[in-house]
Amino acid sequence: MKNRLIVISGASGVGKGTVLGLMMKKRQDLRFSVSATTRPPRPGEIDGVHYYFVTKERFQEMIDQGAFLEYDAHAANYYGTPRDQAEEKLKYGPVLLDIEPNGAKQVKQSAPDAVLIFIMPPSRAELERRLRGRGDTSEDQIRMRLERATWEMKQRDWYDYVVTNDDAERCAEEILNIIADTAMETH
Ligand code: 5GP
Repeated sequence: MKNRLIVISGASGVGKGTVLGLMMKKRQDLRFSVSATTRPPRPGEIDGVHYYFVTKERFQEMIDQGAFLEYDAHAANYYGTPRDQAEEKLKYGPVLLDIEPNGAKQVKQSAPDAVLIFIMPPSRAELERRLRGRGDTSEDQIRMRLERATWEMKQRDWYDYVVTNDDAERCAEEILNIIADTAMETH
């Protein structure tokens, strides 16, 4: 059975991090693809664990070398999935990619058997409440994130699966079931 790339997208504030964390606790063979980014680390983020934090020059070098499976620029920063790392991890189990829709589209093109899953908030009001609840974001940033969220949520139609994060535990279980089901499909 071939391991697949599992792409998880969803608007900022939808709780992707929590859901992914629960999934990896429940299924130890899942591996997380660590992206490279030019954005600075947030408090508590560890280089090589949450992201590889690189300079714009290094990121450009990696683009030129064809080192990315996909990459995208948004919110004034670059984000990309290092190809080698994802391929290496696929030898041991399904690999989770926490990436936005432009990247998801590129992954589907280069790896058609990738499984694309979009996480929706229970409602728009709830998404806004969660974004505000973080407390570290200015009104301008909240407005920008909500605009971006609106665009991202419109992309969900071409994903293979759409799930709702009404409860992180339940949502994690639902995605794990999708991963188990798709692993049994022949293609
Ligand atoms: P944040 O800066 O909040 O960690 O991430 C912002 C957005 O970038 C999230 O929607 C996340 O899914 C997306 N993202 C993170 N890594 C990658 C990547 O390697 N490629 C793409 N295309 N998007 C990414």
